[in-house]
Amino acid sequence: MNDLIADKIVQDTIFKCKICDQQIIFNITNKQSFVSSTEGKEFFGTQLTTYRVYHDVNTERHHNAVLVDNEGAYRGHVDGYAEEIPVQSLDNLSKKDQTTMYKGIIPVDVALNREKSAFILDKSILKLVCIHGPISIEEIRRRTLDLEAPLGLKIDLTLIKEICDKYIKEGLISEVIQ
Ligand SMILES: [Zn+2]
Repeated sequence: MNDLIADKIVQDTIFKCKICDQQIIFNITNKQSFVSSTEGKEFFGTQLTTYRVYHDVNTERHHNAVLVDNEGAYRGHVDGYAEEIPVQSLDNLSKKDQTTMYKGIIPVDVALNREKSAFILDKSILKLVCIHGPISIEEIRRRTLDLEAPLGLKIDLTLIKEICDKYIKEGLISEVIQ
């Protein structure tokens, strides 16, 4: 490492992630390549700055804080930890996939009153859409799966779509145009 420091140009900083050992490269002259920096620590006459850097591995985000000198040479770790990538970021990813969404267009009590004699599944779906809408067809399926056994029904997307289409025709719910 000493021969690198001898070059008086700002080199790329290279170190290994404390969590997964993956090689991470950034440059202290490129603010896009790190999160933040805290100047100030002097170590045997060398000015050292703490840089915070992260990288994503599947659903985890690995944060590393490392000490770097003015030439860009890595001088040691301050800390390293992993966290789950915030759900919001993952949500944004899945929103790119097109899905069918529904929302209620009349109040839930009015809707349920009109559907007093409806089948349990139909009524459950109507309730989900009116209370939790806009809601995706996949989410409706997830939330009605526990009715499969008691009703002896296979609740798949086709069945849910049929029921929703019926309610759309009756003017109780609408499809959400994305
Ligand atoms: Zn890592």
